[in-house]
Amino acid sequence: MKLGIFGGTFNPIHYGHLRAAEEVKEKLRLDRIIFVPSGSPPLKDKELADAKHRYRMVRLAASKNRSFTVSNIEYKNKSKSYSVDTVEKLRRTYPGARLYFIAGIDAFIDVPNWRQSERLVSLADFIVVSRPAFKFTGLASSPYLRINKNILKQLDDAKIQTCKTKLKSGRDIIMLHITPVEISATSIRKLINLRKSIKYLLPEEVESYIITHKIYKVKS
Ligand code: ATP
Ligand code: MG
Repeated sequence: MKLGIFGGTFNPIHYGHLRAAEEVKEKLRLDRIIFVPSGSPPLKDKELADAKHRYRMVRLAASKNRSFTVSNIEYKNKSKSYSVDTVEKLRRTYPGARLYFIAGIDAFIDVPNWRQSERLVSLADFIVVSRPAFKFTGLASSPYLRINKNILKQLDDAKIQTCKTKLKSGRDIIMLHITPVEISATSIRKLINLRKSIKYLLPEEVESYIITHKIYKVKS
């Protein structure tokens, strides 16, 4: 069984996430994508909605797709959770499965700042997806990857759609050019703050949830 682990704050989940998950699942023939919304950090961040709300919004968005599931392992954790612990837990939960950690280019570039990142890149294979405003050539300086910059350039230019190679850890990394969806949770929060429409950027159920629960409430 091939499982994709898709972590994020999902503050809120949007079509950029959902389309990325769908294309990864289809192109790499994964059996399931497990969304893992992060928990709430000990110090409150006013931009970050409560973990309970973010988890519920991901559940609403994922419920329409039979291959999508949502894990509560980070959300229910009282202390701050780290991807390395999440992957270890999921390895124990699915002993026979092959785990792929899914990240957008921006997230993969940030991995060296994550807790026990060296260990993380040795625990799972990685799938890195394209994202507007971020370039695969930006991965040339990644400490975990040795790759010809020309190949990264070809991915950026969509001359090749996918590239599979090895991380220095010995794990696989698959870089995938996906349909560019220029949506970010930051832009959605900004629109809400400006009292503008967020329709068609995220599933209707999520939009209704945001309105009903007055999440990202407009500052008056
Ligand atoms: P924020 O603006 O608050 O950082 P975000 O839109 O970046 O939110 P995250 O929850 O930070 O969403 O991202 C979770 C994962 O989804 C990351 O790996 C990120 O790179 C990826 N991702 C988010 N939006 C897109 C998108 N439009 N296309 C491809 N990947 C995306
Ligand atoms: Mg982000």
